[in-house]
Amino acid sequence: MSKLIRRSVEEMAGYVPGEQPRGDEVIKLNTNENPYLPSPEVLDILREIDVADLGRYPDPVCLELRKAIAALHGCSVEHVFVGNGSDEVLALALRAFVERDARVGFLEPSYSLYPVLADIEDVRQERVRLNDRFGWEVPKKLESALFFLTNPNAPTSVVVDREQIERFADQFEGVLLVDEAYADFAEWHCLELALNRKNVLVSRSLSKSYSLAGIRCGYCVGDGALIEALYKIKDSYNVNYITQEVARVAVLDQATMQANVEAVKETRRLVADKLFGLGFEVFDSQTNFLWVKPLEISAVRLFEALKLRDIYVRYFGESEQTKDYLRVSIGTAPQMFSFLDAVEAILQES
Ligand code: PMP
Repeated sequence: MSKLIRRSVEEMAGYVPGEQPRGDEVIKLNTNENPYLPSPEVLDILREIDVADLGRYPDPVCLELRKAIAALHGCSVEHVFVGNGSDEVLALALRAFVERDARVGFLEPSYSLYPVLADIEDVRQERVRLNDRFGWEVPKKLESALFFLTNPNAPTSVVVDREQIERFADQFEGVLLVDEAYADFAEWHCLELALNRKNVLVSRSLSKSYSLAGIRCGYCVGDGALIEALYKIKDSYNVNYITQEVARVAVLDQATMQANVEAVKETRRLVADKLFGLGFEVFDSQTNFLWVKPLEISAVRLFEALKLRDIYVRYFGESEQTKDYLRVSIGTAPQMFSFLDAVEAILQES
């Protein structure tokens, strides 16, 4: 074993992102991106950016962007932290709130980054296993210093009951971080909870509903003391200048984001009905993807057959809990019709 690398880093497996195939012929339904264009204001601001400004460091605390986010959620800037994607927010939360001998908790299955973050910091994990329907009971006793509660959950697309979360927040003694990367596609969210409790943070992403995965921007909202702790430990200039400018105008244009979200939800309903008709088990989604179980073909065979046709969905075959399911991001209606046609053809061939 190398003496140059920390033991825990040598032993851990890194995060494996979804494949990023390029090419016009590829239908990419594997990383929950948004198929629609972001706000037109984004193009305008990119045209206006002065190259001379790129020679200077960006605002280290993203003040103008935080003002826009704070105005959106009816809070003050002291309650908002902005990160280089919500992934960075999650990583910093783990560093800020979990001592080396403490634990971080999360649902299972859930976002596969959490165990990787735990391994990086070399802290123990407390996993709360979801039931067969991917539902959740508030655990009686949890020892974690920080709990990542993904709501709506990924990859399962389902939401936890609102009262359950409130009850959990009341009884949990650590920091509860509700990961709301998909909340704009859901019927409700926990922002108020975060703004009214000392131990709750809500994280959001601009990668999904705002169609801005490429700029890497996410944020969290919550109590001022928790936000301050995150600001203490972040990289000096964690969010680049272009991202701050683009994110600010995108957040101010709620109409475009909402219209794109509505389009995704409309297509989601259509695809869910069609897959159900084709004999799939389809979970009630409050996200921009569907969690489905093919009943007439194995998930892995369907995944491989779709890939041969340049259609990429996500398969989590490494765990017993998820190996019979596929996660299908919602693309444009024409992309989803091609996907459905391919599924029908594959089912007929099998
Ligand atoms: N949380 C969850 C549950 C996610 O699925 C993702 C996207 N992979 C993220 C956070 C990270 O999003 P971002 O692009 O903002 O880092």
